[in-house]
Amino acid sequence: MHKARIWKPLTDKRVQCRLCSHFCRIEPNERGHCGVRCNSDGALYTLVYDRIAALNIDPVEKKPLFHFWPGSSTLSLGTMGCNLSCAFCQNYSLSQPPRQGQPIYGRPTSPQELVQEALAQEVTSLAYTYSEPTIFFELVEDTARLAKEYGLKNIIVSNGFMSRECLENWDGLIDAANIDLKSFREDFYTRLCGAKLKPVLHALRTVAELGWHLEVTTLIIPGENDSDSELSELAGFIAEELGPHVPWHISRFHPAFQMDHTPPTPLQTLQRAYELGTQAGLDYIYIGNMPGHESESTYCPQCKALVVKRRGFALQKQALQNGRCAKCGHPIPIVGLGQNAK
Ligand code: SF4
Repeated sequence: MHKARIWKPLTDKRVQCRLCSHFCRIEPNERGHCGVRCNSDGALYTLVYDRIAALNIDPVEKKPLFHFWPGSSTLSLGTMGCNLSCAFCQNYSLSQPPRQGQPIYGRPTSPQELVQEALAQEVTSLAYTYSEPTIFFELVEDTARLAKEYGLKNIIVSNGFMSRECLENWDGLIDAANIDLKSFREDFYTRLCGAKLKPVLHALRTVAELGWHLEVTTLIIPGENDSDSELSELAGFIAEELGPHVPWHISRFHPAFQMDHTPPTPLQTLQRAYELGTQAGLDYIYIGNMPGHESESTYCPQCKALVVKRRGFALQKQALQNGRCAKCGHPIPIVGLGQNAK
């Protein structure tokens, strides 16, 4: 066990974890909702500091991040555990067992070992992903700090349910975030995720305010979050409060976990979401989980010319000059494009 950060003691050896917006009050010998933070004798400990359950090298486009060092590789890692309980989770074997009191698996690791692996593999960044980086906060913080010393970049892929305190502690360490905005309805978050919408909106605003590179993902689930009104409001929030330049990834649902009888998202729904996002003022919208679809590429919002062509996660060609559309000169905000990715 490793001493946890961002918590405060309460009376009678109880503690309050302040890492995410559950703000769990935890009795001695009990764990928080995520199942990986434990009160031992009036102090909070993390059970996943030195135990990673998944480690891979991915194209950064797979996170998905399309406007951050395109074409580069990222060392992706995650532990078991999550602070949400989404009925449609695509990674439930990793995220849910600790919440259910089941054993926490993973191989021993350390920030030093992870950074050495990143350097050996010559990647550009480390991505804290797969489950939920908030619940392995301490491992993220220490690894990200060391990674920075070696010139590596840090990415979080998150459900956005962390507290402001959590984000502020990561400021200066995290370069880019892909955050889920799963729905624009409180009822969806309560019923299907065991969470709330408002803290996610706050976290998105905070990330934008801190100036991290930000992209947003919405998994569109038939009958749950696919109405025109909800999609328009959600896209409008991104455009108005985070910025029209923030890429929106709309992703196709596949039956999973407790929603294995819900059908995959029809292509027409994804195309409709794309149109609604455009009407809401978003400049960059990408349809995910549909390899070969034309919306995997980037188009100039002004003249509509193809500026970055992708197929799947592969970058095929680009038509930009000094960060501007080669045809009309409109600025296209893509961090690191054309620079030598490691
Ligand atoms: S990180 Fe875990 S223990 Fe802490 S508040 Fe969130 S769910 Fe509770």
